[in-house]
Amino acid sequence: MSTKLLLLLPGDGIGPEVIGEVRRVIDALRAQGLKLDTETAPFGGASIDQFGVPITDEAVAAAKAADAVLMGAVGGPQWAKVARDKRPEAGLLRLRQEMEVFANLRPAICFDDLADASPLKRDLIAGLDILIVRELTGGVYFGQPRGIETLPDGQRRGVDTQVYTSSEIRRVARVAFETARKRRGVVHSAEKSNVMESGLLWKEEVTALHAAEYADVKLEHILADNCAMQLVKAPKQFDVIVTDNLFGDILSDAAAMLTGSIGLLPSAALGEAGKPGLYEPVHGSAPDIAGKGVANPLAAILSFEMALRLSLGRADLADKVRAAVVAALAAGVRTPDLGGKATTREMGDAVVKALA
Ligand code: NAD
Repeated sequence: MSTKLLLLLPGDGIGPEVIGEVRRVIDALRAQGLKLDTETAPFGGASIDQFGVPITDEAVAAAKAADAVLMGAVGGPQWAKVARDKRPEAGLLRLRQEMEVFANLRPAICFDDLADASPLKRDLIAGLDILIVRELTGGVYFGQPRGIETLPDGQRRGVDTQVYTSSEIRRVARVAFETARKRRGVVHSAEKSNVMESGLLWKEEVTALHAAEYADVKLEHILADNCAMQLVKAPKQFDVIVTDNLFGDILSDAAAMLTGSIGLLPSAALGEAGKPGLYEPVHGSAPDIAGKGVANPLAAILSFEMALRLSLGRADLADKVRAAVVAALAAGVRTPDLGGKATTREMGDAVVKALA
């Protein structure tokens, strides 16, 4: 098996802390036959401080040349006054665009030992395993025209444009259908076709693709606002939810909280088959706890698990990492976000120990 290359982008705040624990997991897996080289590049505020830009051309090139990219998190109050197009978040948007990762996979899984940490009742949440597939490179976050202008009467007007083409819709729907085939075979497509033209197009294109190629998968259409309600009311009715960039941003955060803590949530962003995937914990740089050594590293470790499975061809080792996380939780190790006192390092220790 050839040696793969993983680019690490630790970023800001708790990013370097949680990526540090992933490095220890990688070391433990190397002892079990993982052939993986790593490179590291500054990203976000760390890159602004060093190079004046949130991501350099070299880092973008390294990301495209790697088999997978794993980032920590970017951003923080230190860079809040930086021009909008130079902010840490702009670096992330550029990276996603340049890597052409258009499908964001965000699982929400409820680990048995944590079912009581969810704000929902145990019977609603125990055994939850859903996947939100969010369109990532189109829609209102990128559509033109956009901007803030001053009108002749002195008022200011802010404009964003929600825009989707049929091919943008179909390629992300394809990822959802393909993934559902390997799961329980149900896709809910969430949009606002009742009030938005782009939502109507979304529904029509998903319906046509389903009829042409994925009739074996069960397709349900759901309005995005109802989807938000159903996620809180009866989340286990879902298997895969596919939706646009804006609704996906919100729905996946709602789904995130079902599982108890944002510190547990991994994600993957995928492009065309064979291209490197971008893996990242769902959480941000958590400036309120950065430097205290208490961030939960499991979201980052589980993001690496997804990379092993989806980009690095080692589903066998991904299973081991998942089992090690389950074992660490079963052993009662809890960081403060899970109601315990364990440090980042102690949670990493528990996973590494379970791997051995
Ligand atoms: P956040 O996810 O950083 O933090 C939200 C809350 O969750 C905080 O109370 C934080 O302490 C807690 N939290 C987050 N991750 C945790 C972990 N691993 N363990 C324990 N607790 C954790 O979101 P925010 O506060 O809205 O944003 C902070 C900064 O991060 C902002 O600059 C924002 O732009 C940036 N951000 C970056 C990304 C990214 O890099 N992908 C995502 C979201 C936010």
